[in-house]
Amino acid sequence: MSVEKFDQILHKIEGEKVAEEVIIGLYNWGEPTLHPDLPAFIKKVKEYGFTCNVSSNFNLVDLDIGAIVRSAPDFFRISVSGYRQEVYQQTHTKGNIYMVLSNLHRLRYFMDRLKKEFEVEVYFHLYRHNLDDVVQMKKVADDLNFAFEMDMAYFMGLGKILKYLDGGALNEKDAQVNELMILSHEERTELAWQHKDDDCHARSHLTTINWDGSVALCCATYEASDTIANDFNQFSHDELQEMKYSHATCEKCTEKAQHVVAAQEPKHKLAEIGNQRIKELMNQTD
Ligand code: SF4
Repeated sequence: MSVEKFDQILHKIEGEKVAEEVIIGLYNWGEPTLHPDLPAFIKKVKEYGFTCNVSSNFNLVDLDIGAIVRSAPDFFRISVSGYRQEVYQQTHTKGNIYMVLSNLHRLRYFMDRLKKEFEVEVYFHLYRHNLDDVVQMKKVADDLNFAFEMDMAYFMGLGKILKYLDGGALNEKDAQVNELMILSHEERTELAWQHKDDDCHARSHLTTINWDGSVALCCATYEASDTIANDFNQFSHDELQEMKYSHATCEKCTEKAQHVVAAQEPKHKLAEIGNQRIKELMNQTD
């Protein structure tokens, strides 16, 4: 997407005034730091007075971290799934944790040097295979004065989940990843079931705009058949909402309580059961 196109999108969002606070997350199924104009995008969001969030795997070698820091997003998340390379690369395939660690240190360097402070969060995806790495990664975050959060990884995209729940098989790689989940997809679905009739937060509160300005049904989908509009700017907010609420995938998703799973609810119950499972797994590895 060009900066000009992005500006037109922000202009439309500003004009529609559908929420008191508009949060623009510059990520969805992709890596935002691959876009050479990311700092310009962040600046644009700030010019409009919106909140700007970025989420990255921070794996790029030639990342212009100084430019990102100068543009000062409100929130910058770095997702990790291990501290040791042999652990990290299992779920961040082809990634290199040494590059991530190096970029984290460079980020702190530039934030100090340019005197820019914004919220940086190291976000640890918990799997069965990486629980021993949590403490070391938290120490890195603490030393660099970044926040540290962790949560159980869960299996996505929605298209393959719906096929799987319909009796289809996962491919070998997906099946391996699914095996690494602390709570299986089936366990999550069972917990979600009691909230099946709740509205979907991703549908009611989020709009997912793709790289080319088209609109996806939501952030859990990526199939072309789940693109609801070819150009965000051609449709009003109400029209887009209507398209979502009448979409066949939404109907199927809510019938199977997958909207609750995708929004990670009910969080407290999941956390309670997940923490117990994590304790059991950690005891096994002692
Ligand atoms: S109901 Fe399912 S498909 Fe529809 S927006 Fe929510 S998560 Fe996406």
